[in-house]
Amino acid sequence: MRSPSDPPRRDSVPPVELVAESALESAPAPELALEAVPPPLAGIPPPVGDFDERPPLENRFSWSKSRHDIYSGCQRRYFLHYYAYWGGWDEHADERKRRLYVLRRLSSKEQWAGIAVHEAIARALYRQRRGRPIALPELISDTRARMRGEWRSSSRKNYWHVRRGFGLLEHEYGDEIPREVWKANWDLVERCLLGLEGSATWARILASDRGRWKPIDQLDSFSIDGVEVWAAPDFAFEHEGGRLEIVDWKTGQPRPSDVLQLAAYAAFAEAKWGVSPDSTTGTIAYLATGTETKVSLDRAAIAGFEAEARASIAGMRSILDGPAENRPHPEERYPKTEERWRCAGCSFRGECWEGGRVPAE
Ligand code: SF4
Repeated sequence: MRSPSDPPRRDSVPPVELVAESALESAPAPELALEAVPPPLAGIPPPVGDFDERPPLENRFSWSKSRHDIYSGCQRRYFLHYYAYWGGWDEHADERKRRLYVLRRLSSKEQWAGIAVHEAIARALYRQRRGRPIALPELISDTRARMRGEWRSSSRKNYWHVRRGFGLLEHEYGDEIPREVWKANWDLVERCLLGLEGSATWARILASDRGRWKPIDQLDSFSIDGVEVWAAPDFAFEHEGGRLEIVDWKTGQPRPSDVLQLAAYAAFAEAKWGVSPDSTTGTIAYLATGTETKVSLDRAAIAGFEAEARASIAGMRSILDGPAENRPHPEERYPKTEERWRCAGCSFRGECWEGGRVPAE
């Protein structure tokens, strides 16, 4: 589950420059990623005026699955991502806050592939709902063009200058990524979109009544014990007879937490749409393989999710100086993870390791 301050999925991606050479097809020249750029934040306007994504002025405590993942992975990252950056959108904020505000928006290449697939499917669903379906080849070429533009923009580090600019942490830290790795990233996206079209999940969705569709991949919240819990189910629709099917798209391999995430969406569906878990089923669509897993979403599944969320909330509050005000301890109280493999995918690498280079364990 995402929260409003999580790495972005972009509802509307800005038009991209269509270029002859593709960062994804004829893979990027490594030196492009290292071309000289102005120092971050030097003399540039701060990323303000972003009203639709600007966080509330009060840093209120809330919970989401992605917040839990960061919290359980590295306390220092958790502090930087949810506290230290706060206020960095303000032109009067100190430079470090502004830097953290930009860094926390960067994605890893793996996240990028997932985001691209989810956004492409959301676009396809919106088009279906409007009665203007998009053919798969067009969806694929559109997605490729968007990713190409994002790659080029990121390789120039435009995210330091462009409000809501897309950025990859691999570009920020000058990682030497072979062209075949970038290509493999695209191949996964393409394979997932092909897997979507051939899947039983997609066939059921297309055969369903558009009037029974729930909001598509939209962030919303509900409450557990007074704590705001954020969720953005990928898709949900009602079958004839009223049974709700919640669909979660996956671009990777099955993981144990996949089922728990659907249970969270079922809790959201009951709280927000008034649909009983007894009338809800879950589908995890593994797009790279074109397979799906059915998940039972009964009261026991929801209780399991709520127990995990409560434990996670209690843990997060236990490392606050002022839990009631969501006030953190001083920064030094939040240690780096000892599992350094996690640092490779962390956009704050440069805050912990010289030049963002993670020392060998
Ligand atoms: S770079 Fe590593 S130690 Fe530093 S915040 Fe990120 S995950 Fe934690």
